[in-house]
Amino acid sequence: MIGVYGGTFDPVHFGHLRAALEVYQGLKLREMRLIPCYRPPHREPPVADARARLTMLRAAVGDDTGGFKVDNREMRREGVSYMVDTLAELREEIGDEPLCLVLGADAFVQLHTWHRWEAITALTHLIVTHRPGWSLEVGDLDPALARLWRSARVGDAGELAAAPAGRILQFAITALDISATRIRAMVARGESPRFLLPEKVWNLIRLQGLYHIKRDVDEH
Ligand code: ATP
Repeated sequence: MIGVYGGTFDPVHFGHLRAALEVYQGLKLREMRLIPCYRPPHREPPVADARARLTMLRAAVGDDTGGFKVDNREMRREGVSYMVDTLAELREEIGDEPLCLVLGADAFVQLHTWHRWEAITALTHLIVTHRPGWSLEVGDLDPALARLWRSARVGDAGELAAAPAGRILQFAITALDISATRIRAMVARGESPRFLLPEKVWNLIRLQGLYHIKRDVDEH
């Protein structure tokens, strides 16, 4: 089984990395693809450019990647990054091997707004992790998404290996209330985001002057 962890990674932080690692280990995945988007469909363009976000992600993962792989296909593709296109490409490459797309609860509750979202569920399993501040009440979901949740949900990770796609697993992870938005705001205010993200990523932010860094945080 292959995991897919998509995001803007603007910048990557321990909320992303810890979730990806816990799912990777918990589901005994063969590899975990970290896929930075080029241009997110649903939001403002990222603050840092694609090259800077990719450099930060590669620095975070490091050389000894274990099962983590940074996959830059959305950046190579350019244009708006639709997850359905990415998954279709991966499906072409891997055949019937199960795919597991990891989504925080904040992303899952919006899934029905994604481009061709029903095609996504035919291409991959969904692994829905907790995200502090976001609850997963089925009654609050979009009706079509709630139907999918009820029909596709499995209680046991073992059921994922039996099919290439189409099942949903809720997966508990260490709750880390970290967001890239808050990190960017901290940096812009001149506060240090240290210990919320890898040291190497913080060094790159300082080196490249990303997020309108104020010079007086250089010492922290
Ligand atoms: P931003 O604040 O800029 O929106 P973000 O921190 O939410 O960024 P994204 O790159 O947009 O990060 O998120 C990509 C994926 O990572 C989503 O599935 C999201 O749910 C998940 N994610 C991000 N932060 C966390 C976290 N702290 N805990 C669990 N999942 C997270």
